[in-house]
Amino acid sequence: MACKTDLLLVNVGNKKQEYGDLRFSISAIEPPVWAGMIAAFVREKGFSVRIIDAEGLNYSDDQVIEIISEESPVLVVGGAVGPNPSASSTPKMVPLGRLLREIDNKIPHIKTAVCGIHPSALPEMTLEQEKVDFVFKGECYYSIIELLKKLRSNPDAEDYDIKGLCYKKIGSVASNGWGKMVEDVDMLPMTAWDLLPMEVYRAHNWHCFEYLNKRQPYGVVYTSYGCPFNCSFCNIKANYDGKAGIRYRSPKKVVDEIGLLVEQYGIKNIKFADEIFALKKDRVEEICDLIIEKNYDLNIWAYARVDTVNEALLKKMKRAGINWLALGIESANKKVREGVVKGKFDSGDINNAIEITHNADIYIVANFIFGLVNDDTETVQETLDMAKALNCEYSNFYTTMAYPGSQLYDDLISEGVELPSNWLSYAQFSEDTLPLSTKHLSNSEVLRFRDKAFNEYHGSSKYLNMIDKKFGSDVVEYIKNMLNYKIPRKHI
Ligand code: SF4
Repeated sequence: MACKTDLLLVNVGNKKQEYGDLRFSISAIEPPVWAGMIAAFVREKGFSVRIIDAEGLNYSDDQVIEIISEESPVLVVGGAVGPNPSASSTPKMVPLGRLLREIDNKIPHIKTAVCGIHPSALPEMTLEQEKVDFVFKGECYYSIIELLKKLRSNPDAEDYDIKGLCYKKIGSVASNGWGKMVEDVDMLPMTAWDLLPMEVYRAHNWHCFEYLNKRQPYGVVYTSYGCPFNCSFCNIKANYDGKAGIRYRSPKKVVDEIGLLVEQYGIKNIKFADEIFALKKDRVEEICDLIIEKNYDLNIWAYARVDTVNEALLKKMKRAGINWLALGIESANKKVREGVVKGKFDSGDINNAIEITHNADIYIVANFIFGLVNDDTETVQETLDMAKALNCEYSNFYTTMAYPGSQLYDDLISEGVELPSNWLSYAQFSEDTLPLSTKHLSNSEVLRFRDKAFNEYHGSSKYLNMIDKKFGSDVVEYIKNMLNYKIPRKHI
């Protein structure tokens, strides 16, 4: 059959299993930016490309198979990529594996590949476990182009000398190492927004506490790629070349992209998807100045670090429409934080960062983790007490997981620790969630504490009074309704 499309990128969906009923209102519906970025690059090189956002459009596997059959592409690439690249990759393998089995069953002549952190970290295992022809290891812009060229000229090739490509050979797996990285990220074209169903995307609930009924439309922009730090529980480096590092887009390119989202799609709610946006002061200022000059009316959220914000910068960020910052505090206990590398700040720094951020009228999403290796009953309580004392506008409480691609995962595997083989166990809000145990707490104790902490924090009168004052009674009611939903957990 003649191919209508060279490349078909599929964003599979699994919201039901990953979020249970939380999917109906709380979770965001994010555009699969990874697919839009690859699509733009591939299209610029002269190939035809289409994106199926099965998650955003709620498509069943059968609907996806029907489209693939119609398009009969040279290559289908499924992304093990989710809104939180480091935490969502592994759980995405569940729906991705299911779709790959369906493709293998119904249209076996179609060549398939997967990309994302999980397959990059475990290419051999992925090729063994899944019905897939190729795995891209790390950044895959160039690898996809090379593979498309090869498949177009020789669809039955058995050998592929393509950097970043792993594939099965009789009795073994061939690996060509990490993919070639794009050196100057400014040469990447703008995300192919025109190939995405922009009308379906929706911001996080807390991002729109000021106007809960206006969570749509929603856009996601990267201003930088990667992270220069090396937290042991984080696997973000496997998204690139396996090393810590960061590449910056020029402020002009970033603001041009924001301009397109504003002017073409009427977008106000934007996430800066950078691992850490507020890192290089001059650059952040330049981006903010350019946005302020344009006078856009934006509601942006971004990640910052406790030790990289200062008063003047925060004030400028607010003027640019950065209304929310997510701060990774992780644990109240310095020793517990230091056990995972990221503990270069103390509680004085945390209090100061919160105070100056609030003084700039920026709301805070505070991120905490329970179940870090040295956590015990007292330290998890210390963390919850700190969260309550800080009383930020929203708090995320996560549990510790050894995500494939992290140092933690490698260490535990080499120590012979048995880790969950059900990839859904790595989703934070699933029935199957199974966090790590610590030196002092079992995994079910950690999970039970997490769920209790979430409800205790967001249900406290101190928190709800603050929310009432800042956002009004409808947001208080919304939060109370959210708390009525108890996540079913197999492992409590
Ligand atoms: S600061 Fe740590 S957790 Fe955050 S992206 Fe970087 S390595 Fe990962």
